[in-house]
Amino acid sequence: MSKEKNTATAFDSIKGQVLNSIDSFIYTKDLSGKYTYANQAVLDLFEKSLTEVVGFDDSHFFDLALSKQLQINDRLVMDQALRVESEESNFIKAKNEMHIFKVVKKPLYNCDGIVDGMCGISTDITAEKKLQEQVNEQSYLLDTMLNNIDAHIYVKDSERTFLYINSRVAELFGDKAENIIGKKDTEVLPEEVAEHFYQSDKQVFETNKKQVIEETTENDEGGTCHYISTKVPFNRPDKLPALIGFSTDVTELFKLKEEFKKLANTDPLTNLYNRRFFTEQSGKEYQRAKRYSLSMTLISIDIDHFKSINDQYGHPAGDQVLIEVAKQLQENLRQTDILARIGGEEFSILLPETSPQSAMAFAERIREEQSKLTIIGDWQGEITLSVSIGVSSFLATDEAFDDLFSRADKALYQAKNSGRNKVFYL
Ligand code: GH3
Ligand code: MG
Ligand code: MG
Repeated sequence: MSKEKNTATAFDSIKGQVLNSIDSFIYTKDLSGKYTYANQAVLDLFEKSLTEVVGFDDSHFFDLALSKQLQINDRLVMDQALRVESEESNFIKAKNEMHIFKVVKKPLYNCDGIVDGMCGISTDITAEKKLQEQVNEQSYLLDTMLNNIDAHIYVKDSERTFLYINSRVAELFGDKAENIIGKKDTEVLPEEVAEHFYQSDKQVFETNKKQVIEETTENDEGGTCHYISTKVPFNRPDKLPALIGFSTDVTELFKLKEEFKKLANTDPLTNLYNRRFFTEQSGKEYQRAKRYSLSMTLISIDIDHFKSINDQYGHPAGDQVLIEVAKQLQENLRQTDILARIGGEEFSILLPETSPQSAMAFAERIREEQSKLTIIGDWQGEITLSVSIGVSSFLATDEAFDDLFSRADKALYQAKNSGRNKVFYL
Protein backbone atom coordinates (compact mmCIF):
# COMPACT_ATOMS: atom_id res chain seq x y z
CA MET A 1 0.00 0.00 0.00
CA SER A 2 1.44 3.46 -0.93
CA LYS A 3 1.86 6.21 1.67
CA GLU A 4 -0.75 8.44 -0.09
CA LYS A 5 -3.29 5.65 -0.14
CA ASN A 6 -2.72 5.04 3.56
CA THR A 7 -3.23 8.71 4.36
CA ALA A 8 -6.38 8.82 2.19
CA THR A 9 -7.85 5.77 3.93
CA ALA A 10 -7.06 7.23 7.35
CA PHE A 11 -8.66 10.52 6.33
CA ASP A 12 -11.78 8.71 5.01
CA SER A 13 -12.08 6.81 8.24
CA ILE A 14 -11.88 10.02 10.35
CA LYS A 15 -14.38 11.67 7.98
CA GLY A 16 -16.70 8.68 8.41
CA GLN A 17 -16.40 8.83 12.19
CA VAL A 18 -17.12 12.53 12.24
CA LEU A 19 -20.15 12.19 9.95
CA ASN A 20 -21.46 9.29 12.01
CA SER A 21 -21.14 11.15 15.25
CA ILE A 22 -23.33 14.04 14.00
CA ASP A 23 -26.99 13.99 14.97
CA SER A 24 -28.00 15.45 11.59
CA PHE A 25 -28.83 13.15 8.70
CA ILE A 26 -26.18 13.31 6.02
CA TYR A 27 -26.57 11.51 2.72
CA THR A 28 -25.77 11.51 -0.96
CA LYS A 29 -27.88 10.20 -3.84
CA ASP A 30 -27.23 9.57 -7.53
CA LEU A 31 -29.31 11.02 -10.35
CA SER A 32 -31.84 8.16 -10.12
CA GLY A 33 -32.41 8.96 -6.44
CA LYS A 34 -30.54 5.93 -5.10
CA TYR A 35 -28.44 6.46 -1.99
CA THR A 36 -24.69 6.48 -2.50
CA TYR A 37 -23.92 7.32 1.12
CA ALA A 38 -25.83 7.66 4.41
CA ASN A 39 -24.40 8.44 7.84
CA GLN A 40 -25.25 6.51 11.02
CA ALA A 41 -28.09 8.87 11.90
CA VAL A 42 -29.83 8.03 8.58
CA LEU A 43 -29.31 4.32 9.15
CA ASP A 44 -30.75 4.59 12.66
CA LEU A 45 -33.74 6.50 11.34
CA PHE A 46 -34.44 3.93 8.62
CA GLU A 47 -33.48 1.06 10.98
CA LYS A 48 -31.26 -0.37 8.20
CA SER A 49 -27.58 -1.16 7.66
CA LEU A 50 -25.49 0.74 5.14
CA THR A 51 -25.77 -2.08 2.57
CA GLU A 52 -29.55 -2.02 2.93
CA VAL A 53 -29.60 1.70 2.13
CA VAL A 54 -26.90 2.31 -0.48
CA GLY A 55 -28.29 1.46 -3.93
CA PHE A 56 -31.90 1.91 -2.83
CA ASP A 57 -34.14 4.90 -3.44
CA ASP A 58 -36.49 6.71 -1.04
CA SER A 59 -39.52 4.56 -1.88
CA HIS A 60 -37.96 1.95 0.43
CA PHE A 61 -37.72 4.26 3.41
CA PHE A 62 -40.48 6.83 3.07
CA ASP A 63 -44.14 6.63 2.17
CA LEU A 64 -43.69 8.87 -0.87
CA ALA A 65 -47.42 9.60 -1.16
CA LEU A 66 -47.07 11.39 2.19
CA SER A 67 -43.62 12.87 1.49
CA LYS A 68 -44.19 15.11 -1.54
CA GLN A 69 -41.80 17.98 -0.70
CA LEU A 70 -38.84 15.57 -0.50
CA GLN A 71 -39.34 14.55 -4.13
CA ILE A 72 -39.86 18.12 -5.33
CA ASN A 73 -36.70 19.29 -3.54
CA ASP A 74 -34.54 16.43 -4.90
CA ARG A 75 -35.66 17.18 -8.47
CA LEU A 76 -34.94 20.92 -8.03
CA VAL A 77 -31.42 20.10 -6.88
CA MET A 78 -30.61 17.52 -9.54
CA ASP A 79 -32.57 18.79 -12.57
CA GLN A 80 -31.95 22.50 -12.04
CA ALA A 81 -28.68 22.39 -10.12
CA LEU A 82 -30.19 24.50 -7.31
CA ARG A 83 -29.25 24.69 -3.66
CA VAL A 84 -32.44 24.10 -1.70
CA GLU A 85 -33.11 25.09 1.89
CA SER A 86 -36.54 23.94 2.93
CA GLU A 87 -38.78 22.13 5.40
CA GLU A 88 -40.00 18.62 4.62
CA SER A 89 -42.66 16.53 6.27
CA ASN A 90 -41.72 12.92 5.55
CA PHE A 91 -43.46 9.73 6.60
CA ILE A 92 -40.78 7.28 7.87
CA LYS A 93 -41.78 3.69 7.15
CA ALA A 94 -39.55 2.18 9.88
CA LYS A 95 -41.01 4.44 12.54
CA ASN A 96 -44.50 4.54 11.07
CA GLU A 97 -44.68 8.26 11.79
CA MET A 98 -44.37 11.65 10.23
CA HIS A 99 -41.20 13.63 10.93
CA ILE A 100 -40.49 17.23 10.06
CA PHE A 101 -37.00 18.07 8.79
CA LYS A 102 -35.10 21.20 8.07
CA VAL A 103 -33.12 20.27 4.95
CA VAL A 104 -30.25 21.73 2.97
CA LYS A 105 -29.70 19.98 -0.36
CA LYS A 106 -26.99 20.70 -2.91
CA PRO A 107 -26.07 19.25 -6.29
CA LEU A 108 -22.91 17.14 -6.66
CA TYR A 109 -20.83 17.51 -9.83
CA ASN A 110 -18.58 15.08 -11.69
CA CYS A 111 -15.13 16.09 -12.94
CA ASP A 112 -16.72 17.48 -16.14
CA GLY A 113 -18.80 19.87 -14.06
CA ILE A 114 -22.05 18.02 -14.77
CA VAL A 115 -24.52 17.28 -11.97
CA ASP A 116 -24.32 13.58 -11.15
CA GLY A 117 -26.13 13.50 -7.84
CA MET A 118 -26.89 15.41 -4.68
CA CYS A 119 -25.92 15.61 -1.06
CA GLY A 120 -28.16 16.62 1.80
CA ILE A 121 -28.10 17.47 5.46
CA SER A 122 -31.41 17.17 7.28
CA THR A 123 -32.22 17.98 10.90
CA ASP A 124 -35.22 16.54 12.66
CA ILE A 125 -37.23 19.52 13.97
CA THR A 126 -40.40 17.56 14.81
CA ALA A 127 -40.06 18.23 18.56
CA GLU A 128 -39.32 21.95 18.10
CA LYS A 129 -42.21 22.23 15.65
CA LYS A 130 -44.55 20.60 18.13
CA LEU A 131 -43.29 22.92 20.86
CA GLN A 132 -43.63 25.93 18.57
CA GLU A 133 -47.17 24.85 17.71
CA GLN A 134 -47.96 24.54 21.41
CA VAL A 135 -46.45 27.96 22.08
CA ASN A 136 -48.40 29.46 19.17
CA GLU A 137 -51.59 27.83 20.36
CA GLN A 138 -51.07 29.04 23.92
CA SER A 139 -50.15 32.49 22.73
CA TYR A 140 -53.31 32.61 20.60
CA LEU A 141 -55.39 31.35 23.51
CA LEU A 142 -53.86 33.89 25.89
CA ASP A 143 -54.29 36.71 23.38
CA THR A 144 -57.93 35.78 22.80
CA MET A 145 -58.60 35.61 26.51
CA LEU A 146 -56.74 38.82 27.35
CA ASN A 147 -58.45 40.74 24.57
CA ASN A 148 -61.94 39.53 25.37
CA ILE A 149 -61.84 39.71 29.13
CA ASP A 150 -63.73 42.63 30.64
CA ALA A 151 -60.60 44.19 32.13
CA HIS A 152 -57.72 46.45 31.24
CA ILE A 153 -54.52 44.41 31.32
CA TYR A 154 -51.01 45.73 30.80
CA VAL A 155 -47.38 45.09 31.59
CA LYS A 156 -45.19 48.07 32.41
CA ASP A 157 -41.53 48.18 33.47
CA SER A 158 -40.00 50.28 36.23
CA GLU A 159 -38.98 52.91 33.67
CA ARG A 160 -42.68 53.30 32.84
CA THR A 161 -42.50 51.63 29.41
CA PHE A 162 -45.49 49.56 28.34
CA LEU A 163 -44.35 46.02 27.46
CA TYR A 164 -47.87 44.75 26.75
CA ILE A 165 -51.41 46.12 26.63
CA ASN A 166 -54.60 44.27 25.79
CA SER A 167 -57.16 45.65 23.38
CA ARG A 168 -59.22 47.18 26.23
CA VAL A 169 -56.27 49.39 27.20
CA ALA A 170 -55.64 50.23 23.53
CA GLU A 171 -59.30 51.32 23.25
CA LEU A 172 -58.98 53.44 26.39
CA PHE A 173 -55.85 55.15 25.04
CA GLY A 174 -57.44 55.54 21.60
CA ASP A 175 -54.63 53.91 19.63
CA LYS A 176 -53.51 50.49 18.40
CA ALA A 177 -51.68 48.27 20.89
CA GLU A 178 -48.59 48.07 18.65
CA ASN A 179 -48.35 51.87 18.66
CA ILE A 180 -48.41 51.99 22.45
CA ILE A 181 -46.21 49.03 23.36
CA GLY A 182 -42.64 50.31 23.74
CA LYS A 183 -43.78 53.79 24.73
CA LYS A 184 -43.69 55.30 28.22
CA ASP A 185 -46.96 56.09 30.04
CA THR A 186 -46.06 59.79 29.92
CA GLU A 187 -46.01 59.61 26.11
CA VAL A 188 -49.52 58.18 25.80
CA LEU A 189 -51.35 59.67 28.78
CA PRO A 190 -51.85 63.22 30.01
CA GLU A 191 -49.06 64.10 32.47
CA GLU A 192 -51.24 64.12 35.60
CA VAL A 193 -53.06 60.87 34.72
CA ALA A 194 -49.75 59.08 34.07
CA GLU A 195 -48.41 60.43 37.36
CA HIS A 196 -51.53 59.30 39.22
CA PHE A 197 -51.14 55.73 37.91
CA TYR A 198 -47.41 55.80 38.54
CA GLN A 199 -47.88 56.50 42.25
CA SER A 200 -49.38 53.03 42.78
CA ASP A 201 -46.96 51.46 40.24
CA LYS A 202 -44.14 52.75 42.45
CA GLN A 203 -45.61 50.99 45.47
CA VAL A 204 -45.39 47.67 43.59
CA PHE A 205 -41.74 48.26 42.66
CA GLU A 206 -40.83 49.45 46.16
CA THR A 207 -42.54 46.63 48.05
CA ASN A 208 -42.30 43.92 45.36
CA LYS A 209 -45.77 42.94 46.56
CA LYS A 210 -49.20 42.81 44.97
CA GLN A 211 -51.21 46.02 45.43
CA VAL A 212 -54.98 46.40 45.14
CA ILE A 213 -56.16 49.96 44.69
CA GLU A 214 -59.16 52.00 43.64
CA GLU A 215 -58.33 54.35 40.79
CA THR A 216 -60.38 57.07 39.13
CA THR A 217 -59.98 58.81 35.78
CA GLU A 218 -61.93 61.45 33.90
CA ASN A 219 -63.42 60.34 30.58
CA ASP A 220 -63.77 62.52 27.47
CA GLU A 221 -67.28 63.57 28.48
CA GLY A 222 -65.99 64.84 31.82
CA GLY A 223 -67.46 61.91 33.77
CA THR A 224 -65.53 60.01 36.41
CA CYS A 225 -64.59 56.37 35.77
CA HIS A 226 -63.80 54.11 38.71
CA TYR A 227 -61.43 51.16 38.53
CA ILE A 228 -60.35 48.43 40.89
CA SER A 229 -56.74 47.74 39.99
CA THR A 230 -54.57 44.84 40.97
CA LYS A 231 -50.87 45.31 40.26
CA VAL A 232 -48.58 42.31 40.56
CA PRO A 233 -44.75 42.37 40.41
CA PHE A 234 -43.34 40.70 37.31
CA ASN A 235 -39.63 40.02 37.69
CA ARG A 236 -37.50 38.51 34.94
CA PRO A 237 -33.80 37.68 35.16
CA ASP A 238 -31.47 40.30 33.65
CA LYS A 239 -34.37 42.61 32.83
CA LEU A 240 -35.88 45.69 34.44
CA PRO A 241 -38.48 44.93 37.12
CA ALA A 242 -41.97 45.11 35.69
CA LEU A 243 -45.56 44.78 36.83
CA ILE A 244 -48.72 43.25 35.45
CA GLY A 245 -51.76 45.42 35.97
CA PHE A 246 -55.39 44.29 35.87
CA SER A 247 -57.95 47.09 36.07
CA THR A 248 -61.65 46.40 36.07
CA ASP A 249 -64.04 49.20 35.25
CA VAL A 250 -66.41 49.36 38.23
CA THR A 251 -68.01 52.70 37.31
CA GLU A 252 -71.48 51.17 36.95
CA LEU A 253 -71.05 49.23 40.17
CA PHE A 254 -69.81 52.37 41.90
CA LYS A 255 -72.83 54.36 40.66
CA LEU A 256 -75.11 51.56 41.82
CA LYS A 257 -73.47 51.57 45.24
CA GLU A 258 -73.90 55.34 45.48
CA GLU A 259 -77.52 54.95 44.37
CA PHE A 260 -78.14 52.32 47.05
CA LYS A 261 -76.42 54.47 49.64
CA LYS A 262 -78.62 57.40 48.67
CA LEU A 263 -81.74 55.22 48.74
CA ALA A 264 -80.84 53.91 52.18
CA ASN A 265 -80.55 57.49 53.44
CA THR A 266 -83.54 59.02 51.68
CA ASP A 267 -87.22 59.25 52.43
CA PRO A 268 -88.92 58.23 49.18
CA LEU A 269 -91.95 60.53 49.51
CA THR A 270 -90.25 63.87 50.17
CA ASN A 271 -86.72 63.03 48.95
CA LEU A 272 -85.39 64.42 52.21
CA TYR A 273 -82.89 62.50 54.34
CA ASN A 274 -84.54 59.87 56.53
CA ARG A 275 -84.31 59.33 60.27
CA ARG A 276 -81.46 56.81 59.86
CA PHE A 277 -79.20 59.30 58.10
CA PHE A 278 -80.22 62.12 60.42
CA THR A 279 -79.33 60.12 63.53
CA GLU A 280 -76.00 59.10 62.01
CA GLN A 281 -75.03 62.66 61.01
CA SER A 282 -76.34 64.22 64.22
CA GLY A 283 -74.18 61.83 66.22
CA LYS A 284 -71.10 63.00 64.28
CA GLU A 285 -72.02 66.68 64.58
CA TYR A 286 -72.69 66.23 68.30
CA GLN A 287 -69.17 64.78 68.81
CA ARG A 288 -67.66 67.66 66.85
CA ALA A 289 -69.60 70.27 68.85
CA LYS A 290 -68.54 68.62 72.10
CA ARG A 291 -64.85 68.32 71.13
CA TYR A 292 -64.48 71.88 69.88
CA SER A 293 -67.10 73.47 72.20
CA LEU A 294 -69.17 74.64 69.25
CA SER A 295 -72.74 75.78 69.39
CA MET A 296 -75.30 73.56 67.69
CA THR A 297 -79.06 73.83 67.48
CA LEU A 298 -81.87 71.45 66.70
CA ILE A 299 -85.28 72.39 65.32
CA SER A 300 -88.17 69.87 65.51
CA ILE A 301 -91.22 70.58 63.39
CA ASP A 302 -94.61 68.87 63.49
CA ILE A 303 -97.57 69.68 61.25
CA ASP A 304 -100.63 70.71 63.29
CA HIS A 305 -103.79 68.62 63.00
CA PHE A 306 -102.37 66.73 60.07
CA LYS A 307 -104.73 63.86 60.73
CA SER A 308 -107.68 66.10 59.94
CA ILE A 309 -106.07 67.08 56.59
CA ASN A 310 -105.94 63.37 55.73
CA ASP A 311 -109.49 62.91 56.97
CA GLN A 312 -110.87 65.87 55.05
CA TYR A 313 -108.95 65.64 51.74
CA GLY A 314 -107.78 62.05 51.63
CA HIS A 315 -104.40 60.34 52.07
CA PRO A 316 -102.95 61.36 48.64
CA ALA A 317 -103.67 65.00 49.48
CA GLY A 318 -101.90 64.48 52.81
CA ASP A 319 -98.90 63.11 50.88
CA GLN A 320 -98.88 66.18 48.67
CA VAL A 321 -98.91 68.39 51.74
CA LEU A 322 -95.87 66.56 53.12
CA ILE A 323 -94.05 67.09 49.78
CA GLU A 324 -94.87 70.83 49.73
CA VAL A 325 -93.91 71.34 53.37
CA ALA A 326 -90.60 69.57 52.72
CA LYS A 327 -89.93 71.79 49.69
CA GLN A 328 -90.64 74.90 51.69
CA LEU A 329 -88.33 73.76 54.49
CA GLN A 330 -85.54 73.09 52.03
CA GLU A 331 -85.62 76.57 50.58
CA ASN A 332 -83.94 78.42 53.44
CA LEU A 333 -81.32 75.85 54.36
CA ARG A 334 -77.60 76.56 54.46
CA GLN A 335 -75.08 74.10 53.06
CA THR A 336 -74.23 72.70 56.49
CA ASP A 337 -77.82 72.35 57.78
CA ILE A 338 -79.25 68.84 57.80
CA LEU A 339 -82.97 68.50 57.18
CA ALA A 340 -84.72 65.16 57.52
CA ARG A 341 -88.17 63.64 57.68
CA ILE A 342 -88.06 61.97 61.07
CA GLY A 343 -91.50 60.36 61.01
CA GLY A 344 -94.99 60.74 59.54
CA GLU A 345 -95.47 64.54 59.65
CA GLU A 346 -92.42 65.36 61.69
CA PHE A 347 -89.25 67.00 60.45
CA SER A 348 -85.95 67.95 62.07
CA ILE A 349 -83.25 70.41 61.13
CA LEU A 350 -79.81 70.26 62.66
CA LEU A 351 -77.98 73.59 62.55
CA PRO A 352 -74.28 73.16 63.29
CA GLU A 353 -72.40 76.16 64.66
CA THR A 354 -75.61 78.13 65.18
CA SER A 355 -76.57 80.13 68.25
CA PRO A 356 -80.00 79.67 69.92
CA GLN A 357 -80.93 83.25 68.92
CA SER A 358 -80.37 82.74 65.18
CA ALA A 359 -82.01 79.31 65.38
CA MET A 360 -85.09 80.85 67.02
CA ALA A 361 -85.25 83.51 64.31
CA PHE A 362 -84.95 80.80 61.67
CA ALA A 363 -87.64 78.67 63.34
CA GLU A 364 -89.95 81.67 63.53
CA ARG A 365 -89.44 82.29 59.79
CA ILE A 366 -90.26 78.65 59.06
CA ARG A 367 -93.44 78.82 61.15
CA GLU A 368 -94.53 81.97 59.34
CA GLU A 369 -93.76 80.68 55.85
CA GLN A 370 -95.53 77.37 56.46
CA SER A 371 -98.63 79.19 57.64
CA LYS A 372 -98.73 81.05 54.32
CA LEU A 373 -98.52 77.85 52.31
CA THR A 374 -101.58 76.98 50.22
CA ILE A 375 -101.73 73.63 48.53
CA ILE A 376 -104.03 72.91 45.63
CA GLY A 377 -104.61 69.66 43.82
CA ASP A 378 -107.19 67.07 42.83
CA TRP A 379 -109.44 68.09 45.63
CA GLN A 380 -111.97 70.73 46.51
CA GLY A 381 -110.50 73.97 47.91
CA GLU A 382 -107.04 75.00 49.11
CA ILE A 383 -105.24 73.30 51.95
CA THR A 384 -103.59 75.56 54.47
CA LEU A 385 -101.69 74.45 57.52
CA SER A 386 -99.60 75.46 60.45
CA VAL A 387 -96.64 73.90 62.20
CA SER A 388 -95.50 73.74 65.82
CA ILE A 389 -91.80 73.97 66.46
CA GLY A 390 -89.51 73.01 69.34
CA VAL A 391 -85.95 74.34 69.47
CA SER A 392 -83.09 73.20 71.65
CA SER A 393 -79.36 73.81 71.67
CA PHE A 394 -76.31 71.90 72.73
CA LEU A 395 -75.38 72.25 76.42
CA ALA A 396 -72.04 71.34 77.93
CA THR A 397 -73.89 69.05 80.34
CA ASP A 398 -75.41 66.98 77.50
CA GLU A 399 -74.21 63.40 77.42
CA ALA A 400 -75.57 62.39 74.06
CA PHE A 401 -77.40 63.81 71.08
CA ASP A 402 -80.57 62.29 72.50
CA ASP A 403 -80.50 64.85 75.34
CA LEU A 404 -80.76 67.61 72.75
CA PHE A 405 -83.39 65.70 70.84
CA SER A 406 -85.67 65.15 73.81
CA ARG A 407 -85.44 68.83 74.83
CA ALA A 408 -86.55 69.86 71.33
CA ASP A 409 -89.36 67.30 71.60
CA LYS A 410 -90.47 68.71 74.94
CA ALA A 411 -90.38 72.25 73.54
CA LEU A 412 -92.51 71.03 70.63
CA TYR A 413 -94.97 69.46 73.08
CA GLN A 414 -95.21 72.82 74.90
CA ALA A 415 -95.86 74.58 71.55
CA LYS A 416 -98.68 72.12 70.86
CA ASN A 417 -100.13 72.54 74.34
CA SER A 418 -100.12 76.31 74.13
CA GLY A 419 -102.38 76.35 71.09
CA ARG A 420 -100.11 75.19 68.20
CA ASN A 421 -98.58 77.35 65.38
CA LYS A 422 -95.91 78.38 67.87
CA VAL A 423 -92.15 78.15 68.45
CA PHE A 424 -90.82 77.08 71.87
CA TYR A 425 -87.28 76.83 73.14
CA LEU A 426 -85.91 74.57 75.86
P1 GH3 B 1 -101.03 67.30 66.20
O1 GH3 B 1 -101.40 68.65 65.85
O2 GH3 B 1 -101.21 66.98 67.63
O3 GH3 B 1 -99.67 66.95 65.72
O4 GH3 B 1 -102.05 66.35 65.45
P2 GH3 B 1 -101.81 65.45 64.20
O5 GH3 B 1 -103.09 65.07 63.64
O6 GH3 B 1 -100.91 66.15 63.26
O7 GH3 B 1 -101.02 64.26 64.83
P3 GH3 B 1 -101.33 62.74 64.89
O8 GH3 B 1 -100.07 62.13 65.42
O9 GH3 B 1 -102.58 62.49 65.60
O10 GH3 B 1 -101.55 62.29 63.41
C1 GH3 B 1 -100.51 62.18 62.47
C2 GH3 B 1 -101.10 61.64 61.23
O11 GH3 B 1 -100.17 61.64 60.15
C3 GH3 B 1 -101.57 60.25 61.40
C4 GH3 B 1 -101.06 59.49 60.20
O12 GH3 B 1 -102.03 58.76 59.53
C5 GH3 B 1 -100.56 60.59 59.28
N1 GH3 B 1 -99.49 60.19 58.48
C6 GH3 B 1 -98.30 59.66 58.87
N2 GH3 B 1 -97.53 59.42 57.80
C7 GH3 B 1 -98.22 59.78 56.69
C8 GH3 B 1 -97.94 59.77 55.29
O13 GH3 B 1 -96.87 59.38 54.82
N3 GH3 B 1 -98.87 60.25 54.45
C9 GH3 B 1 -100.07 60.71 54.90
N4 GH3 B 1 -100.94 61.18 54.02
N5 GH3 B 1 -100.35 60.72 56.22
C10 GH3 B 1 -99.44 60.27 57.09
MG1 MG C 1 -96.69 63.98 65.00
MG1 MG D 1 -98.88 66.58 63.93
